[in-house]
Amino acid sequence: MRIANLAGRAVLLGTAAVDVATASEGRFGPDPMSVWADWEAFRQWASTVDVDAAPAAQPFEVGDLDAPVPVPQQVFAIGLNYADHAAETSMALPTEPLVFTKFPSSLTGPEATVRLRGDRVDWEAELVVVIGEGGRDLPAGWDAVAGLTVGQDLSDRTVQNRGDRPQFGLGKSFAGYAPTGPAVVTVDEVGEGRDLGALRIGCRLTGPDGDEVLQDGTTADMVFAVPELIARLSAIVELRPGDLIFTGTPSGVGLGRTPQRFLQPGQVLVTEIEGVGSIRQTFTA
Ligand code: ZN
Repeated sequence: MRIANLAGRAVLLGTAAVDVATASEGRFGPDPMSVWADWEAFRQWASTVDVDAAPAAQPFEVGDLDAPVPVPQQVFAIGLNYADHAAETSMALPTEPLVFTKFPSSLTGPEATVRLRGDRVDWEAELVVVIGEGGRDLPAGWDAVAGLTVGQDLSDRTVQNRGDRPQFGLGKSFAGYAPTGPAVVTVDEVGEGRDLGALRIGCRLTGPDGDEVLQDGTTADMVFAVPELIARLSAIVELRPGDLIFTGTPSGVGLGRTPQRFLQPGQVLVTEIEGVGSIRQTFTA
């Protein structure tokens, strides 16, 4: 099942889009956040909908999709969660998850144009977890996860490292620096025929002269895998319906290259995760 946000309304996506409020006769939706607030009931209802055959199914443009979870209460992000990425930034491997936030106002949709606010803005392809029912002291596992989506943890390295101590949250929270989408794909669908803990993840610049791969990794290389993150986070913080967890990035970021390189106006960045989908950002000055 794929759940998305089409022009501000919750939809189920197949080759067409089914408006949730219309198809459920008002039981769920239209607010995209409403499906997470009542996740278990919604999941059960949605599993009965034949998306492509539903009377309410309508064609849609991917460009009209917005962030599938537009206003989560909390957005967690995990730093240095892939060993090869920690190595390329000359940082020691964390012994505890390194947790920060991307403020929710930085979220944007899967095909958003993003204005670069500095000349050292880096890419970080990330698997993003969406919490279903949530709670505290959850066991390690996938039960609390409603689904997965693709994210970019766009990062201004100047803001991150200026001042006398490094900090992650602000430099990663400019407008549009958290593109997500195109849909939240439920765990059962992502896991159908593949290992949920070993998804290929990467990003590439694309243009008329072809593609240049920037990152190409697997989520199997996470230091703290998704089930472990659920347990570690919920041991301290209550996870709430619709919360997002950006789970870290594999190696290949611009900061770790010689010479270092960063995103430029006019570039188009495609971020893709096996079984989850792809998002595409165009950058402007
Ligand atoms: Zn990151």
